Amino acid sequence: MNEEIDLEYFKKRLEDRRKVILDGQEAKKKETAPVELDQARVGRLSRMDAMQQQAMSQAADRLLDVERQRIQTALSRIESEEYGYCILCDEEIAEKRLQFDPSLLTCISCAQKAEEK
Ligand SMILES: [Zn+2]
Repeated sequence: MNEEIDLEYFKKRLEDRRKVILDGQEAKKKETAPVELDQARVGRLSRMDAMQQQAMSQAADRLLDVERQRIQTALSRIESEEYGYCILCDEEIAEKRLQFDPSLLTCISCAQKAEEK
């Protein structure tokens, strides 16, 4: 167990962040569904704009989904007392990294290796 880090603090940050993501996704569902494009009223360009915006917002949604899954994993690792250790190599994750983003699951060297691929 990584004794150096304040689990309660990170747990709270993870839960807060998860709530922000879930609330945001909930609000967005109401706001954007269904996406209707009034073909008669909007010109070709603004239709493309709307489609592009929709694609961008879907990409953002996917990123949020990935983050939410990471948060879920991080929370379950707090429960199983594995939090703060890299899921790939079992080394301690630098606390600075966790301060930056508590949902990070890998140490800096594994993260860099993953980026190089
Ligand atoms: Zn690692």
